[in-house]
Amino acid sequence: MRVIAIDGPAGSGKSTVAKALAARLGLDYLDTGAMYRAVTFAALRRGIDPSEAEQVARIVPDLALDVSPAGVVVDGVDATIEIRGPEVSRAVSVVAANTGVRSEMVRRQRAWVQARGGGVLEGRDIGTVVFPDAELKVYLTADPEVRAQRRSKEVADLDYETVAADLARRDAYDQGRAASPLTEAVDAFVVDTTGLSVEDIIDAIAGRVASGA
Ligand code: C5P
Repeated sequence: MRVIAIDGPAGSGKSTVAKALAARLGLDYLDTGAMYRAVTFAALRRGIDPSEAEQVARIVPDLALDVSPAGVVVDGVDATIEIRGPEVSRAVSVVAANTGVRSEMVRRQRAWVQARGGGVLEGRDIGTVVFPDAELKVYLTADPEVRAQRRSKEVADLDYETVAADLARRDAYDQGRAASPLTEAVDAFVVDTTGLSVEDIIDAIAGRVASGA
């Protein structure tokens, strides 16, 4: 089974790289961050306070989540746009730190791979927790200013300062939480994407896949 894990902080280039790599290798691609965002969206929509861990965990087993490159559908509602909005971005960290939510998402991520016989998955804990035996684990980094610039280009309605502050807050939370904190796997291929073009990054990673390192 071919599993490629791409982890790293927000704005490090994970989505762009994971999608391009999946296309090049002929594998499917899964954005696991979108799954945590989708759970957050579902909680907010039901009027549940995202920090109420037990209540949030309770909605997860029966939640119908469809996360694909075509979009994100939560219980039959198209949430593709809204999961990227400020309300979900503010609340997603606390939802992702919820162990009840994580165990169910990890179970679904493994099932997703089983059903396809492999895939490229991007997230925070793919190489460390979800697929510690992945064929290749990549950890992407980039200078905080560069990451904030990339992210603020994606969210047109928010200014740079707001995006940079949100990114710094989420990274600190993701790195400091008890449940599956964001960290490099010991055997990860670490790429600092700060000055690199997308092509350069993909070539470096694809070379690594080909060499079997
Ligand atoms: O990748 P993205 O920035 O959309 O992820 C949103 C949030 O989901 C992250 O800040 C993190 O808290 C959480 N996440 C996670 N584990 C993953 C993917 C995302 O905890 N595998």
